[in-house]
Amino acid sequence: MSLTVVGSIAFDAIKTPFGERERILGGAATHFSLAASFFTNVRVVGPVGDDFGEDEYAVLHARGVNTDDIEYVEGGRTFFWAGEYEYDLNSAKTLDTQLNVFGDFQPKLSEGSRNSEMLFLANIQPDLQREVREQSSGAQVVALDSMNYWIESARDSLVKTIGTVDLVFLNDAELRMLTEEPNLVRATRKVMEMGPSVVVAKQGEYGAALFTDDAFFALPAFPLETVVDPTGAGDSFAGGFLGYLDSAGRSLDEGTLRRAMTYGSTLASFWVEAFGSERGQELTREEIDDRYEMFRRITTIESVPTG
Ligand code: AMP
Repeated sequence: MSLTVVGSIAFDAIKTPFGERERILGGAATHFSLAASFFTNVRVVGPVGDDFGEDEYAVLHARGVNTDDIEYVEGGRTFFWAGEYEYDLNSAKTLDTQLNVFGDFQPKLSEGSRNSEMLFLANIQPDLQREVREQSSGAQVVALDSMNYWIESARDSLVKTIGTVDLVFLNDAELRMLTEEPNLVRATRKVMEMGPSVVVAKQGEYGAALFTDDAFFALPAFPLETVVDPTGAGDSFAGGFLGYLDSAGRSLDEGTLRRAMTYGSTLASFWVEAFGSERGQELTREEIDDRYEMFRRITTIESVPTG
């Protein structure tokens, strides 16, 4: 089993009410890879520049992530994002986005990455996501994430890419923006009409909801007293979800999808406890499984003794 991901590999500047970081390793593909690596073999695809060094590679290698398809662009600079959150940590305010080496990146996947059974098109220019999708001949299940930045600047391309995937992860506001439909249930139907059979609506501190043709499942976020920085919550959610799904044989039956939702929420709950991927870097599988069990208990009506 293996899972290929393409998406931003970045340096982030982040400010929240609880502190700030001037320049830390970030990017959708980075957060996703680290989270998914607790479940399956991960291969990451994307370009980096001169400023991406041994320390950054070491973070990925420490979790066993395969970086053969990270392309070093000589003289280039790595993608850079600056964002800020206010007390409502549910939405990031983007202060700066510098595509840098992503500007003219043309992905060429190695045989290993093309053959992965699962593919995640993490947040990046939708044309690029589609180029990777087209090369991934071994992918049995394909999922996608995006954000308002691409819905606004490359909507038609994004809709075309959505037409080639099985699962879509977007937050409530992005689903409404993409479909121009204020009702969330109808918005998810509209996305399914574009092609995918599963839509996951991410709802920040309120959790996430899963929609398929004939099923619905909602999960609150894990109740945390310490939330420091939500950056990477969406990508670590997708990493836990799809990493588990790959390890479970990629079946899209309701039970597997519900467990995937719970693993996704578990991973995201750790991610937000510290800046960027700092918490994820020191996480263990044991901690994940303990919190998953607790999550399962607090969200199952049947576990309460009947009176
Ligand atoms: P999230 O999981 O949604 O919080 O995503 C966080 C990551 O998205 C950050 O580490 C950023 O580097 C990355 N990011 C921000 N804007 C973009 C963009 N327009 N395209 C791709 N990645 C982005």
